[in-house]
Amino acid sequence: MQQEELFKELVSHCKEYGFIYPSSEIYDGLGGIYDYGPMGAELKSNIREYWWKAMVQLHENIVGIDSAIFMHPKIWKASGHVDAFNDPLIDNKDSKKRYRADQLIEGEIDRLEAKIEKEVEKARKRFENFDEALFRSTNPRVLEWAKRAEDISKRLANAMKANDMAAVKALIDELEIADPESGSRNWTEVRQFNLMFSTQLSNIAGEEGKLYLRPETAQGIFVNFLNVLKTSRQKVPFGIAQVGKAFRNEIVARQFIFRMREFEQMEMQFFVRPGTEMEWYEYWKARRMAWHQAVTPAAKLRFKDHDNLAHYANAAVDVQYEFPFGFKELEGIHSRTDFDLGSHQALSGRKLQYFDPETNEHYVPYVVETSVGLDRMFLAILSTGYTEETVPDAQGEDSSRVVLRIPPALAPVKCAVLPLVRNKEELVGKAREIFDRLKFHFMCQYDEKDAIGRRYRRQDAVGTPYCITIDFQTLQDDTVTIRERDSMQQERIPVARVVDIVREKTDMVRLLERL
Ligand code: ATP
Repeated sequence: MQQEELFKELVSHCKEYGFIYPSSEIYDGLGGIYDYGPMGAELKSNIREYWWKAMVQLHENIVGIDSAIFMHPKIWKASGHVDAFNDPLIDNKDSKKRYRADQLIEGEIDRLEAKIEKEVEKARKRFENFDEALFRSTNPRVLEWAKRAEDISKRLANAMKANDMAAVKALIDELEIADPESGSRNWTEVRQFNLMFSTQLSNIAGEEGKLYLRPETAQGIFVNFLNVLKTSRQKVPFGIAQVGKAFRNEIVARQFIFRMREFEQMEMQFFVRPGTEMEWYEYWKARRMAWHQAVTPAAKLRFKDHDNLAHYANAAVDVQYEFPFGFKELEGIHSRTDFDLGSHQALSGRKLQYFDPETNEHYVPYVVETSVGLDRMFLAILSTGYTEETVPDAQGEDSSRVVLRIPPALAPVKCAVLPLVRNKEELVGKAREIFDRLKFHFMCQYDEKDAIGRRYRRQDAVGTPYCITIDFQTLQDDTVTIRERDSMQQERIPVARVVDIVREKTDMVRLLERL
């Protein structure tokens, strides 16, 4: 199946099985905003827990906080968001559609890269003993496209860095980029658009009372740096972690939960001695990649260095995941120097410094930040796990199933308890008794409706790793069958062992031990 089709299937699956609903649906929805249903809320909470445990519980030198969404408006002045948290916006005069100008240009780069990949694949089929590296470095067409892509990418980066919107527009004209929907090239000028949502305090009128919904959680960490330093007995190097909502008035909120206007971030700021930041940057790159690889195949992940470094960063890389619409940013790892603490120190007049007992100096620490979107992580886990396959049914005939092969520790429901039939009181009673015991240990579901095969399929579709079936033999010898989601293998085990077996396979400890 084409990736595009697969993505559509995934989106409707998310709705049908209670993972994600469009927000305010009975009022026809609200662009770029989504709600998480019963299964989605569980999966999201498990991903959040995996992150929190990996960062806070496993690192003695990282502590967590939970700061407020509203903060003093000066914070966003100091951080640079009021003046520079912009995206370049362009309107098409014919279709009246609005786009991000940089993304239109990046689309051209993606197109050239896709052409290169196609050419490589064609050659791979044509030649025996195909030497891909040699082909890429010598084939004239590939070289020309690669050079063009690099050239466009550099020009875009330079224009963005110089805040030169006329140069961005010139690039759109020169590349003859048309509105993807209408084909029209009748564009407005490019202008900068600030992405922060604002609201108003009740007791202060005018600009003074203008508040912003935080566009990132990080600033809540920076402004609490001294509080945490004083109250946690941490010493540099140490980190502060936080998970929470962030809000961005994205110009184009597309691709489902990949780009939303309200989303959740999992961020950690690691405070280090100036001059040691590149070591820590490398350290955190490796640690974060290991975290991803424990739940996502390595082939679907890659690092991508930033072409366009923010003025305060001295290194920045994205962890990209191969979404059904291509490799895109999942997490950002940034070496942010002392920019944020330094700016807050200057604007607030408070000293945001650390006295280093080893060097006997005061300094503003440097910061290495890791920032991953919880919703993007959710989409990555579902995209990797979503599988449509043909399997034999109980009679040995081919039947199709959708199964979410997600890591058992992240699965919304760990175990389903199913009486073989529902019209036998003893079976139902026994199944209820087992369910009432298991629910203290895991998220479980009890299900007695429909034939057993259909119940298995329902659990496969939400990624439940284990189904426990209670049958007539159970009443005689206190054994049940346990069915494993991916292999569909069934085994007979004593009821007394169910908790241990399910825990062994689904416990988050197993994931954390791999880090
Ligand atoms: P992009 O380039 O995709 O807009 P960004 O570079 O602006 O992302 P950061 O500011 O580095 O993103 O934010 C850190 C993380 O927060 C991102 O890696 C992403 O996972 C998540 N994130 C950012 N914007 C959104 C959004 N609109 N919807 C969902 N997640 C987001």
